[in-house]
Amino acid sequence: KGEVDIISGALELKSKCVSEVMTSIDDCYMIDYSAVLDFNTMSDIMSKGFTRIPVYMGERSNIVALLFVKDLAFVDPDDCTPLKTVCKFYNHPINFVFGDTTLDVMLEEFKKGQCHMAFVNRVNSEGDGDPFYEVLGIVTLEDVIEEIIKSEIVDE
Ligand code: ADP
Repeated sequence: KGEVDIISGALELKSKCVSEVMTSIDDCYMIDYSAVLDFNTMSDIMSKGFTRIPVYMGERSNIVALLFVKDLAFVDPDDCTPLKTVCKFYNHPINFVFGDTTLDVMLEEFKKGQCHMAFVNRVNSEGDGDPFYEVLGIVTLEDVIEEIIKSEIVDE
């Protein structure tokens, strides 16, 4: 039973796309680019237990950086360091994909190893203004693996 699930999960990678497995941006734990890394902010980040935290500016759909919790290792909360200082120092690349990217393509992308998180983008051309990109959700390697093994991975 387990093997059959895994094989059918692997075969489905070609027919499923990232928008079906992503974590919606509304459910995503993120932090504002203008935040200050004081004790409260840092304890809030630590208490959530995520590895990577998207950083937005203005709207939550406007992702401008990615913070790794390990980036905070040398940050002293008493210094009240602006988050942007840390973001600029590490300057981690952020990957964007469109929602119709299939999971097999996404898996190959993750295997290249730059970052195991990607942002699912779309072009918003509603309204009168110019079309703009907006982020709908995040997808990580774990979301893809869960599709292969067809069961929820419970985090540490
Ligand atoms: P982590 O190492 O932080 O636990 P994983 O890459 O293992 O993250 O992903 C575990 C699940 O948590 C995935 O479903 C992923 O979409 C989700 N996830 C990852 N980072 C965040 C975040 N900052 N906010 C909300 N959900 C997240």
